[in-house]
Amino acid sequence: AVKAGKRGTFQFYDRQMSEGLDDRRQLETDLRRAIERGELELYYQPSVVLKTGEIAGFEALARWRHPVRGNVPPTTFISIAEECGLIHAIGEWSLAEACRKAATWPDRLKIAVNLSPVQFAGPDLVGMVRGVLERTGLPAHRLELEITEQMLLDSGEATLAILRDLKALGLRVAMDDFGTGYSSLNYLRSFPFDRIKVDRSFVTGLGSGAQNAAIIRAVIDIARALGMRTTAEGVETADQQHVLSLLGCDEVQGYLFSRPVPAEEAQALISRWRPEDRRATTRAA
Ligand code: C2E
Ligand code: MG
Ligand code: MG
Ligand code: MG
Repeated sequence: AVKAGKRGTFQFYDRQMSEGLDDRRQLETDLRRAIERGELELYYQPSVVLKTGEIAGFEALARWRHPVRGNVPPTTFISIAEECGLIHAIGEWSLAEACRKAATWPDRLKIAVNLSPVQFAGPDLVGMVRGVLERTGLPAHRLELEITEQMLLDSGEATLAILRDLKALGLRVAMDDFGTGYSSLNYLRSFPFDRIKVDRSFVTGLGSGAQNAAIIRAVIDIARALGMRTTAEGVETADQQHVLSLLGCDEVQGYLFSRPVPAEEAQALISRWRPEDRRATTRAA
C-alpha cells in the first residue's frame, strides 16, 4: 500500500517494509551484543608499492560473523551503527585494535583505518585518537585515517578544524573512494589530504574504453600537483596493475595481491612476501 505522507510525498508502507524495519532493529540489538561479546573482528588487506612490489601497509576492515546469519557485510552493520550511535564504540574499538596489531609489525608498515563521518559529530574524536595512539604506542606517522568525501558533504569549518587537529597529531589522512561523489575536486582544495584512493569502479572499468584510464590519469596528475600520493582500489588483474603503473599510480590494493585476511594471515603475508614477484610486469599479460 502507498499512503500519502507529509508535504505531499508518498511513503511506502507494506508488510515487507515493516519486516525490513524489524529486521534492522533486531540487527541493532544483535550488534550491541556483538560488541560486548567481542564478535567483531578486523581483517587486513595489504597495500602494495607499485614500483617495488613491497607491502606499504594494511587497511583494517571490520568483519562481523553473526551467530545465526553468518557474515554481515560491513556496509550493512556500519550503517546501522551510524544510525544508532554504536559507531562511536565500534570506531574506537577498531582503531585501537588496528593500532595494537600494527605496533607488532615492522616499523616501515603503516596501518589504514576507516573513519565514519558520524564520528566527526561525536564527542572529542581528536582526544580519542590521541588516547589510542598513546595506549598502543603506535607512532602517529604509521597511522593513516581514511575518510570518504561523503563526510565532507556538509563539511563546515568544524569538520575541517577536526581534520587539521588530527593531522597535527602527526598522522596521515586519505580521501577514500575518490570520484564517486559530486564534489571530489572541490574538497581537494579545502584540505591537504596525504593520499587519494581512486575508487574501485574506475579501476574495474580500465579494460573497457579509454575513459577510465583518462580519468585515473587526471586524478594522478592532480594528486601529484598537490603533493598527494595515490592508491588504486580493487585491482584484480595483472593488466590493471600494468596500466596503473604506466599511469604512475603509487600504490595498489586488491584481490590480485590479497583479499582482506585475519591478523595471523597478515603476519604470515609479511614474513613470506616476495616483492620481486609482485612488481608490475613490463608488458600487459
Ligand atoms: P573501503 O574502505 O573502500 O574498503 C574497500 C572495500 O573493497 C573492502 O570491502 C574490501 O574488502 C573491498 N575490496 C578490496 N579489494 C577488492 C577487489 O580487488 N575487488 C573487490 N570487488 N573488492 C575489493 P569491505 O571490507 O566489504 O568494506 C566495505 C566498506 O565498509 C569499506 O569500504 C568501508 O567504507 C566500510 N568499513 C569497513 N570496515 C570499517 C570500519 O572499521 N569502520 C568504518 N567506519 N567503515 C568500515
Ligand atoms: Mg577504506
Ligand atoms: Mg575505499
Ligand atoms: Mg571503496
